Amino acid sequence: MQSTAHDFKDNVGAALADPNLQDSLAKLKVGFSERRRQAAERLPEFEALRDRARDIKDHALANLDFYLEEFERKVMALGGHVHWAPTAADARQIIGELCRSVGARTVAKSKSMVAEEIALNEHLEALGIAPIETDLGEYIIQLRHEPPSHIIAPAVHLTKDQVADTFLEHHAPLGFTRRLTERNDLVAEARHVLRQKFLDADVGLTGANFLVAETGSSMLVTNEGNADLSNTLPKMHIVLASIEKVIPTLEDAAVLLRVLARSATGQESSAYTTLNTGPKRNDDLDGPSAYHVVLLDNGRSSVLGTKMQDMLRCIRCGACMNHCPVYGAIGGHAYGWVYPGPIGAVLTPQLIGVEEAGDLPNASTFCGRCESVCPVRIPLPRLMRHWREREFERHLTPWTARQGLALWAWFARRPRLYRGMAQIANRMLAMCGRAEGRYRMLPLAGGWTRFRDFPAPPPGGTFHAQWARTGGKRP
Ligand code: SF4
Repeated sequence: MQSTAHDFKDNVGAALADPNLQDSLAKLKVGFSERRRQAAERLPEFEALRDRARDIKDHALANLDFYLEEFERKVMALGGHVHWAPTAADARQIIGELCRSVGARTVAKSKSMVAEEIALNEHLEALGIAPIETDLGEYIIQLRHEPPSHIIAPAVHLTKDQVADTFLEHHAPLGFTRRLTERNDLVAEARHVLRQKFLDADVGLTGANFLVAETGSSMLVTNEGNADLSNTLPKMHIVLASIEKVIPTLEDAAVLLRVLARSATGQESSAYTTLNTGPKRNDDLDGPSAYHVVLLDNGRSSVLGTKMQDMLRCIRCGACMNHCPVYGAIGGHAYGWVYPGPIGAVLTPQLIGVEEAGDLPNASTFCGRCESVCPVRIPLPRLMRHWREREFERHLTPWTARQGLALWAWFARRPRLYRGMAQIANRMLAMCGRAEGRYRMLPLAGGWTRFRDFPAPPPGGTFHAQWARTGGKRP
């Protein structure tokens, strides 16, 4: 996927001005987060499970080489194949060659963010192979030639009317000429169209939520069952997964599944949990005759053992973006690449460079909600702060911001002078702020006040002055 992360500020402007997007985001804000809250309340051991989930992922990351090799051994013993892809280009090439080896004309894809990360669809199309997205949300955005806007709900930015128009445009040549208005009808029509595509596909390609080292299984959760058709009907099944998905045991998977579904959608369990363990055996009724796992690194191993390793715990539940006030205002496309929201603000600079994606870690108020809901307790604000520091060190921060921070730091190192200047500034702002809109005239304040006014400071002086008056006690 082509990045537009460097256009983040323009993307934000467009997102804020898009009424359809704002309508969809308003529903998202009350949907997922409320369901997660209720699901967590219903499970007394939820917080303890989050600790266990974090520990499982930390243990797997600390021993990643061991568990990956164990996973590879198990897959090969079952008659499958494992391919190591150091880069996105390697992964594309491996998958392209596998598809060609069976003369594939169509590939049925189940939702995979890693496939987005390596721009797999564009590569397959260039080879003359048609990738068919089978997850309903992914299918809708594929018809619209759009990237996903959310990790678990890729078409969440669209209204029902937009989906209806898209289906009418693309399904009319197939004989579906009625514009549908009910959700169930839209789903039924998509199911009808996709069913034939499953039957026609030569290769099924899925992602994996987890790779289980002890059994050599890839584990996938969906709510639509599309992954099961993608991996059982075609003659070849390819699993594309990044290396940090490996975990030691099935018991560990059970813990992670319990926090994943609750954090993602508020469900106690996703509708379908599928384990793929090698190709079809002689006495199996169905299944693929060839089974391949492509393990993508793409820069992840360089994070191991660093302060940023915690980001590799992510199990892609989407809770951080569901609770993020910035994501809730601008949606996923504004982030300009595959992974939006707080985890995107951490992961994207790592994967495509802080020069390209340096604005993303700044798209946070550091309110901490993302960390407070993350099922594997990733310290997202700390990781974003890391990128802000790298951005500052590499002089990627705008000159005005650098000078402003340098000036603030100079005063902050001289506390008495700082307090005196703060009092003067406070009085001046109080005088300016008596009439609404006056701040708009101040130099350097235009970026902030273009869309909102700046409230005058409340009476009582600066924080320091109030602190001194009350002796540190609340008034
Ligand atoms: S960072 Fe945490 S909350 Fe966000 S998607 Fe990953 S696991 Fe979920």
